[in-house]
Amino acid sequence: VLYEAYPEAFRRNNVAGKVPLGVKRKNLRIVVTGGAGFVGSHLVDRLIGRGDSVIVVDNFFTGRKENLVHHFGNPRFELIRHDVVQPILLEVDQIYHLACPASPVHYKFNPVKTIKTNVVGTLNMLGLAKRVGARFLLTSTSEVYGDPLQHPQVETYWGNVNPIGVRSCYDEGKRTAETLTMDYHRGLGIEVRIARIFNTYGPRMCIDDGRVVSNFVAQALRKEPLTVYGDGKQTRSFQYVSDLVEGLIRLMERDHVGPFNLGNPGEFTMLELAEVVQETIDLNAKIEFRPNTEDDPHKRKPDISKAKQLLGWEPTVSLRKGLPLMVSDFRQRIFDDQKTGGA
Ligand code: NAD
Ligand code: UDP
Ligand code: UDP
Repeated sequence: VLYEAYPEAFRRNNVAGKVPLGVKRKNLRIVVTGGAGFVGSHLVDRLIGRGDSVIVVDNFFTGRKENLVHHFGNPRFELIRHDVVQPILLEVDQIYHLACPASPVHYKFNPVKTIKTNVVGTLNMLGLAKRVGARFLLTSTSEVYGDPLQHPQVETYWGNVNPIGVRSCYDEGKRTAETLTMDYHRGLGIEVRIARIFNTYGPRMCIDDGRVVSNFVAQALRKEPLTVYGDGKQTRSFQYVSDLVEGLIRLMERDHVGPFNLGNPGEFTMLELAEVVQETIDLNAKIEFRPNTEDDPHKRKPDISKAKQLLGWEPTVSLRKGLPLMVSDFRQRIFDDQKTGGA
């Protein structure tokens, strides 16, 4: 009965972004799924910092308590160990739905679980949004464009995705998550937002998650050769995490559903990235070529005109500015690990 009483009240109170200038914004109750992970924990810092109450829902598959430990004891912060594949009852105004492994090594580890997380997990969070009248934001990915035949990628491009490949659990999982999000929006009037995130890096990334920036930085710090897959001529565009968090918050608060590309248009080949890492950490770091992984997209670069125009957003941190910030965090963690004899 209690739950039945909530939805209307929540709908009425859900006024994020519509508060006139000069009027104090009502503090919100926000759930961040995947909030113990890399991007999620930075988002939580911003939300707590502006006065909102945050509930993190995370199963700790790739997330870590250490990423949030500075909020423990804060009455506006709550951490729940929970798998989004299972239903959950919460009373909130906004849902940032990030829960999903993001690095290829992690999402390929148990592909069926990755699909369940993307499909059933997203369904549950949309069901929650429906019940309490919350606004729902999905963190989708540039991977929905697959190995793109259009460059740079615009939101209107439908992509070139292999439905039966080793990356499909993630790519197709996120595509289905986008479909579910739009169907809850169109069919049930749920307020939704979709972000298509391009490669993002920064402090708190898992050190050994296999992604290229974390690999190169950890390798250079450990005096190991940088492993370049294939010929190293494939490209990616690397966004610093604070730029992404700013984009996610703007998207949630403004009045456009999306999808919006959120990424840094600066495009680098993997060999160029290796050079920037050498210049930042160790000019003598060696490069070692390895065979590439299956279905690796050849190039990727966001067209961010839509986010610029409708959200007034664009990245401000270049790779050369952002990389050193990540390096100090990695240096500290690798050094601490060596001291304690950890892996
Ligand atoms: P991450 O692995 O650091 O964080 C994901 C978090 O989700 C972790 O804390 C993990 O424990 C949690 N999680 C995974 N499965 C779960 C489940 N079933 N139930 C509850 N929690 C679960 O990854 P990230 O880089 O922070 O990515 C966050 C989101 O952004 C993901 O949805 C990812 O697909 C998306 N994204 C990230 C990037 C990027 O470059 N980092 C690019 C595109 C999209
Ligand atoms: N759900 C949830 N929390 C809620 C409301 C719903 O986890 O507060 C789950 C629910 O268990 C269901 C899914 O979200 O599996 C979709 O819910 P919806 O109400 O849209 O569909 P239905 O339950 O009618 O199938
Ligand atoms: N890559 C690389 N060396 C590594 C890890 C990755 O050259 O140690 C390459 C990989 O083949 C891909 C690019 O870097 O072309 C980005 O890979 P990542 O796993 O970071 O992200 P995604 O493929 O999801 O964009």
